[in-house]
Amino acid sequence: MTPPDPPLGRRAELAAGLAEVEARITAAAVAAGRGREEVTLVAVTKTWPASDVALLRDLGVREAGENKDAEAAAKAAEVEGVRWHFVGQVQTNKARSVASYADVVHSLDRARLARALDEGARRAGRRPDVLLQVSLDGDPQRGGALPADVPALAALVAGLEGLRLAGVMAVAPLGAEPRPAFDRLVAVGQQVSADHPGACVVSAGMSGDLEAAVAAGATLVRVGTALLGHRAPLLR
Ligand SMILES: *Cc1c(COP(=O)(O)O)cnc(C)c1O
Repeated sequence: MTPPDPPLGRRAELAAGLAEVEARITAAAVAAGRGREEVTLVAVTKTWPASDVALLRDLGVREAGENKDAEAAAKAAEVEGVRWHFVGQVQTNKARSVASYADVVHSLDRARLARALDEGARRAGRRPDVLLQVSLDGDPQRGGALPADVPALAALVAGLEGLRLAGVMAVAPLGAEPRPAFDRLVAVGQQVSADHPGACVVSAGMSGDLEAAVAAGATLVRVGTALLGHRAPLLR
């Protein structure tokens, strides 16, 4: 009898996931008349071990995303050579911690959080990039500022020494076509970058909707499942 194939190593699994995601981003960019290099891939490594972040880094993915402060802080202390993106909602009392390791905070959606992150960053002698999270469905549970409130929030952040306003971010509304929502986000982003030159990042698109995001003009996609596999369900 021939022995069963050896299980694929984790490195090979991640390499296969990465090849698939790269092909999807490239195809979406080409279809939109854009270049692959216009879209940054952030690997959302939440729930996966730090060793996976290191394997992805060694495969060339230098941007990692996390959504829980304790988990992110531990991985950032353990893995060198990656830029850390905080993509989850930030409780104000965690802002100081997040500002001490995050290179990019994607979820700034209120003035109080902006001030807390600014203070934390200045204490740590850092100046992280921040993206203004925009609510595309008006549901405050999922985070995000209403589009009408974004220009004032952008002006506030632009005046804070500890933060660098870098653009906008959104999560597609649940149960709706993502493309029109991403088009609205891109329009909000264009207003922000017109008022604040250099703040031109548009963070949108995940495993299920990255093509729609790239077609709309996203400059950064946040991909977990398609790269790393299905996360174990959270037990509460
Ligand atoms: C988990 C998460 C992602 C990645 O989602 P996948 O569907 O696993 O690709 C992207 N953005 C945010 C804000 C997330 O919390």
